[in-house]
Amino acid sequence: MAAPFVDTARITVRSGNGGNGVVSFHREKYVAAGGPDGGDGGRGGNVVVTVNDHMSTLMDFRYKRKYVAGNGMDGQGKRCTGKDGEDLVLRVPRGTIIRDSETREIIKDMSDDTPFVLCKGGRGGWGNKHFATPTRQVPRFAKAGLPGESRDVILELKLLADVGLVGFPNVGKSTLLSVVSRAQPKIANYHFTTLFPNLGVVYVEEGVSFVLADIPGIIEGAAEGAGLGHDFLRHIDRCRLLIHVVDVSGSEGRDPVEDFEAINAELKQYSPELASRKMIVAANKVDIMTDPTLLQRLREHVGAQGLELFEMSAAAHQGTRELMKRAAQELQQLPPVAVYEPTYVERPPQVDTSGEVEIQQFDDTWVVEAPWLQRLIANVNFSDYESRNWFDKMLRQSGLFDQLEEMGIKDGDIVSLYDLEFEYQR
Ligand code: GDP
Ligand code: MG
Repeated sequence: MAAPFVDTARITVRSGNGGNGVVSFHREKYVAAGGPDGGDGGRGGNVVVTVNDHMSTLMDFRYKRKYVAGNGMDGQGKRCTGKDGEDLVLRVPRGTIIRDSETREIIKDMSDDTPFVLCKGGRGGWGNKHFATPTRQVPRFAKAGLPGESRDVILELKLLADVGLVGFPNVGKSTLLSVVSRAQPKIANYHFTTLFPNLGVVYVEEGVSFVLADIPGIIEGAAEGAGLGHDFLRHIDRCRLLIHVVDVSGSEGRDPVEDFEAINAELKQYSPELASRKMIVAANKVDIMTDPTLLQRLREHVGAQGLELFEMSAAAHQGTRELMKRAAQELQQLPPVAVYEPTYVERPPQVDTSGEVEIQQFDDTWVVEAPWLQRLIANVNFSDYESRNWFDKMLRQSGLFDQLEEMGIKDGDIVSLYDLEFEYQR
């Protein structure tokens, strides 16, 4: 089957840096030397991605391409912790796939409702208040905050229609679509062009856009028993709103009320479920209307069924914008139809532990620093047992402990890794 319609956007995201811990000592008049009271730096803000079911396109990401979360503040004396940086939340339509822009690898398929942390904020560094021990009462060091991460990613979304255009041939469906849709996505080369929907993205205002499909094939295709492809059916599944276009000009000697009922009957035959979706009626070609009573009769007819009618002239761009605004409003209120196919299984984080490390000794404390160690620590949830085990395994594999042994570390010495300290045991 041919490829579906795909919307893409390339963006850069950056999480905040952790604030630095500080070295400070408690001071009071007449007290010679107080204890260490340097506070910790605040955590940098995360970049978090969440699913928003009221969005169905990536339109907003074309206007803004850089997203940066807040930095954590530095700690202060008197045990004051710096303020955490603010998280940055990116809202995307359900089914959006996040890829690494270089490798094209899938980072995440945003199909469920769990917020996804795309870039973790750097942890704040510890102030010197943490490093006092009975044998080390004057710790003259604190830790720098960990830097945030930056990533170039591609967002990718298979477009599925939110709104379907139905109506007799020649009433103006294609014209309407071409007039109101601003971005025409690439048209995939389907085998049976006429059976597949023309899609357009309708941009109403910032944060409000939807996918409109001209689906003439529903009825004609079903009547001929033609096999509709899976991609096509997904469009129909997703449509939450139908716009029923009716020609009220009387130019072809047709009766609008009869046309309206004939299409509804066919819809019902094809799919009662589809026919039960919310519908707005668009009375088209009012610019060449010869007999206003045709429009009046249609208005009364659909009004009796509790449906709203918009007059318009697609060709003259009259009333089309109002109709689209109304459709967007309706979509906000209609429950979303969940249609998605997760395609991706998450992998554990990969950290290369082969880089150089820098080791400094302060009496019985061994302060270890390395960029890979920062990344490793950033990926560990220390309140989770499995995560801690993984961390331990990675440290052992890295050869760090062999190196410390060579430099003369003894049992009971302290190993200090960023905001972590533990007693060394062979
Ligand atoms: P579809 O078969 O429903 O997709 O209809 P089209 O969009 O292809 O339109 C059929 C014909 O009607 C074309 O010649 C259009 O130019 C014309 N048409 C569409 N909308 C209007 C309108 O509002 N006023 C007038 N006068 N002609 C229209
Ligand atoms: Mg058409």
